[in-house]
Amino acid sequence: MELHKYKAHELKAMIKNKEVKVEEVTKAFIRNISKIDEKIGAYLHVSEEEALNSSKALDEKITKGEILEGLGGVPVAVKDNISVKGMQNTCGSKILQGYISPYDATVTKKIKENNGIILGKLNMDEFAMGSSNENSAFKKTVNPWNEMYVPGGSSGASAASVAAFEAPLSLGTETGGSVRQPASFCSVVGLKPTYGRISRYGVVAFGSTLDQVGVIGRDVEDCALLAQNISGIDNKDYTTVNIPVQAYKNNLVKDIKGKKIGIPVEYFGEGLNDNVRKTIDKAIKVLRENGAEVKECSLPLTQYALAAYYIISSAEASSNLGRFDGVKYGYRSKDTEDVVDLYFKSRSEGFGKEVKRRIMLGTYVLSAGYYDAYYKKSLKVRNLIIQDFQKVLNDFDAILSPTSPTPAFKFGEKTKDILSMYLSDIYTVPVNIAGLPAISVPCGFVNNLPVGLQFIGNYFSEATLFNLAYSYESSTDWHKFTAQII
Ligand code: GLN
Repeated sequence: MELHKYKAHELKAMIKNKEVKVEEVTKAFIRNISKIDEKIGAYLHVSEEEALNSSKALDEKITKGEILEGLGGVPVAVKDNISVKGMQNTCGSKILQGYISPYDATVTKKIKENNGIILGKLNMDEFAMGSSNENSAFKKTVNPWNEMYVPGGSSGASAASVAAFEAPLSLGTETGGSVRQPASFCSVVGLKPTYGRISRYGVVAFGSTLDQVGVIGRDVEDCALLAQNISGIDNKDYTTVNIPVQAYKNNLVKDIKGKKIGIPVEYFGEGLNDNVRKTIDKAIKVLRENGAEVKECSLPLTQYALAAYYIISSAEASSNLGRFDGVKYGYRSKDTEDVVDLYFKSRSEGFGKEVKRRIMLGTYVLSAGYYDAYYKKSLKVRNLIIQDFQKVLNDFDAILSPTSPTPAFKFGEKTKDILSMYLSDIYTVPVNIAGLPAISVPCGFVNNLPVGLQFIGNYFSEATLFNLAYSYESSTDWHKFTAQII
């Protein structure tokens, strides 16, 4: 088998056993990127030289007798809103074109310290706003299972690159489902951790009370490996907490006897594709066979989650994006008359349509006349949604649902009807609103397009989620299928 087809934990073991060199592994991925990325469109920047230099440095450590702990010499691709020193960080936006990060995000630093190799920067919906990657200012990323279909978003390229063997692992970010939904569309595993589990220092903010870095791998073990290497408290991000990070990867067992799983009736109503529902029903059977107790539960406020999410996230985005003014970073409009004109033109020319829509919506809901009616009310709804989840999670170890109501959709299918695009996040956004962790794991295909199964857990229950996902994965073969167009 070619090197780039191996999973991260397999590559780590091969490097440790001196069957391959780190440099050979990195070269295999770079070779595959140059072969197929023209078709997939996942990378905005490939850091070939830096990656090869770091690989050689790690190989030297091995020659000196050192064992590479942590990521063990395995490469990771990074979404283009996470700072990597010396590399571009465009956030998929024209307004950040030409900007080079002067420092590493904490997650980047941890990857480097834990013997990982950064392969490059990945395409995304502009400022992580979108569900299809169609909002990137730069290029189109296709779904490796069928190039007519979107890879999901906003971390669409993070999922596509792993599905297409252009990286064994990748980092994405989540504000409302941006790791889990593309993971589900591309048949890879994606985790959105608890709010506060992974540092966001050096990650460009979208909705600060919702944002988290997420991880993607080809199987649960790979995803667990990356998560445990980048999690933990960080004194540069005061939302992170001092709860020890478990060795997620070492606690994966098939037997889940006695685990209680809730099925929220509200997630199985109108809008759910019939074949996706059937796929989930089959998955429930597998989990029962593995010992889980699966029962219905109720999350009655689900219907308000999407509205609350778009108000809160847009309000926060309108404030966070205020810093892009044409002065401090990236793009600056030419021929401007004065400073106000410079702000105005730089932002008008630099931001895309969806970002402008969110800024306008956010500014509106925060304005004096509408603050109480929209923003404040949404915060109240948010509290009720948190309570909804807590009631259920007092009785269950996890909640199970589809990750998305449908498989991937075609390019252009939802760009005219923005609300239908927003609806594709209906099962993921409540989790971000509540700050809970959740994982998406491949659970089958509908019309040859992947479907994802989601487990939602209580705060800091990542280990339980990895284990439930692993139990399911080890009883099925979905993770062994290979995307068609590569
Ligand atoms: N699709 C959602 C949005 O457009 C979620 C994005 C995200 O999680 N970054 O806001």
